[in-house]
Amino acid sequence: MSYRVAVIKGDGIGPEIVTEAMKVIDKAVSKKGIAFEYTQVLMGGASIDAYGKPLTDETLEICKNSDAVLMGSIGGNTTTSPWYQLPANLRPEAGLLALRKGLNLFANMRPAYLYEELKDACPLKEEIIKDGFDMVIMRELTGGLYFGERKTVEENGVWKAYDSLTYDENEIRRIAIKAFDIAMKRSKKVISVDKANVLDSSRLWRKVVEEVAKDYPEVTLEHMLVDNCAMQLVYDPGQFDVILTENMFGDILSDEASMITGSIGMLSSASMAEGKFGLYEPSHGSAPDIAGQNIANPIATILSAAMMLRYSFDLDEEADAIETAVKQVLAEGYRTVDIMAEGCTKVGTVEMGDLIAARL
Ligand code: NAD
Repeated sequence: MSYRVAVIKGDGIGPEIVTEAMKVIDKAVSKKGIAFEYTQVLMGGASIDAYGKPLTDETLEICKNSDAVLMGSIGGNTTTSPWYQLPANLRPEAGLLALRKGLNLFANMRPAYLYEELKDACPLKEEIIKDGFDMVIMRELTGGLYFGERKTVEENGVWKAYDSLTYDENEIRRIAIKAFDIAMKRSKKVISVDKANVLDSSRLWRKVVEEVAKDYPEVTLEHMLVDNCAMQLVYDPGQFDVILTENMFGDILSDEASMITGSIGMLSSASMAEGKFGLYEPSHGSAPDIAGQNIANPIATILSAAMMLRYSFDLDEEADAIETAVKQVLAEGYRTVDIMAEGCTKVGTVEMGDLIAARL
């Protein structure tokens, strides 16, 4: 069995952290005789340097013809890098937006998990953290307020701006199905977040989510208003398993959930299309300030690769093994500099990858 994975190593620390993730995947799947066929392509700053634009048609085509895409972060120092002297449509991030659009990635998945060993980095009090938390935020990525019609007009000498929040039932249904599918692989609980006491789009959201729920009798569904959810995340984060929500609410809540884990180098993410196809990348940026120094934390990318195994290839056992190996290495006291604590052993990017691979 072999899977085709397009690999975008990216800019800054991207190549260092993706190399470690590939090392770990290969080790995790080797026992089953599964092989990953990697095709490396350029996107972002590296593509600008090579081809004069952040995403070429060839790169998009290779990604489309793959089973999944594994990516490091892209972009450079936004103040000093010459990439940011270019017009907006030729800058690194334009490549990422075009790639997401070209691959029809409508569902963004961001887990927020608190490692026992990294509890000190969590800004919440011990009595709130209790036994920790382990949630996934499923955010709709291609509809809603960020993609609705907008205009700014002058009416009777007064400036007025409009943004419209639109969802149709198909857009809601497909993200809801993703959330319920993911819940089936986890603790089987979905909390759908909306503002149904005010917004029509939220009332339709609630109705469609309830319809989808009927096909998943094992999954518990609750609805929660977004303002309450923002409070509950810092009051009782342990109650959440899968949070399903629309684009703007998800944008805000996923950052809040990331913040309470306290460690940017640990946060994985995936953007999914219809079926099993997904693009997997760390939540953090390309950290140009520490690039090429072998000090970046590769764990977010390694955990993103584990998500790829679980959600694109149904290799749940191998994904579990990677996550367990990460926990083990942390429990043994190994830390990259960003999560370093007293009494722990400081290791570099390559060493952290080696340690995790060795425990598989
Ligand atoms: P950043 O996430 O790259 O860095 C913020 C801080 O966190 C820096 O101090 C950095 O050293 C540190 N950091 C980030 N990842 C780390 C890791 N794995 N290990 C250790 N430390 C880590 O955010 P930024 O500095 O605002 O952005 C840098 C570039 O990344 C910009 O060009 C930005 O546009 C881009 N970016 C890309 C993506 C993406 O590719 N999806 C996402 C966010 C930002």
